[in-house]
Amino acid sequence: MDASLNDALSRLPSSAIPLNPTVLALTGAGISAESGIPTFRGSEGYWVVGSRNYMPEEMATRRMFTAHPDEVWRWYLYRFGMCRHALPNPAHAALVQLEVALGERFRLVTQNIDGLHRRAGSSVERTYCIHGDSAYVRCSHECGRGLMPLPAVQIPSLDVEFTEAMRNQLKCEHCGAWLRPHVLWFDEYYDEENYHADSAMRAAAQADVLLVIGTSGATNLPMQLATLCARRGATIIDINPEPNPFSAIAQRAKCGLAIQNMASVAVPAIVAHLRAAAAA
Ligand code: NAD
Ligand code: ZN
Repeated sequence: MDASLNDALSRLPSSAIPLNPTVLALTGAGISAESGIPTFRGSEGYWVVGSRNYMPEEMATRRMFTAHPDEVWRWYLYRFGMCRHALPNPAHAALVQLEVALGERFRLVTQNIDGLHRRAGSSVERTYCIHGDSAYVRCSHECGRGLMPLPAVQIPSLDVEFTEAMRNQLKCEHCGAWLRPHVLWFDEYYDEENYHADSAMRAAAQADVLLVIGTSGATNLPMQLATLCARRGATIIDINPEPNPFSAIAQRAKCGLAIQNMASVAVPAIVAHLRAAAAA
């Protein structure tokens, strides 16, 4: 193990990781950055419509979808294409090993819609995709169809306009309305039915250890999860090359650690430590 990581872990009091711990992992775009998927904070985030640049916070909204469904779909299909071609990295794989070691004592809450946790082998049952999953769509008029697989619409290049055939592939067969990506937009609210918000809070209410990986704390459910864990006295470990609100929570917590390192290096090391506690 990396000497500085080893050193950081050895500074945790022995009570920080109980035998057979219950662990909640909370992941954000940073865990997939090393798989080649840009975070929202990177320069690749913006999108041009007409002569204007839009930031993800404007594109990923019901308001934008209602006004410009073609453009919002083109933006998503472009981003989804990047997700399809990306591969899980050692950080995703380490969380699978942790789930195997802990079973029911493990939960994963992810803000990522890229499907890399699923493709690495994390179970659907113990993974809560609180911002949705790019592999699915649903009717924008909520006509009762539930989740459907993302239609195979190919956008050959970014300057190609939508054809009528492409548009038709993105319409609900039942009621004719636009299908929408199964993702939580910035002007919408978390719920249990689509985004497992209550299940995520329940997991935070039970965790001995919260492992936060690669998230900037810009959305509110992740902050609520971490605040609840900290209030209950859980051990908080943040992994992120940059200081962020979760590293601040970890530093203030009774047992906490902020590890300023890349996910692909730090997550396998922490997971090895937690698996040792599970096997002891
Ligand atoms: P964010 O883009 O706001 O922040 C990413 C965080 O990851 C930053 O704090 C950054 O310092 C950190 N980071 C960068 N490289 C890292 C690495 N190698 N290892 C560890 N950490 C690293 O992402 P967010 O907090 O997840 O929130 C943004 C929103 O965007 C979420 O709603 C999410 O659903 C969505 N999003 C998802 C994806 C995806 O599915 N992969 C990608 C971009 C955005
Ligand atoms: Zn419909």
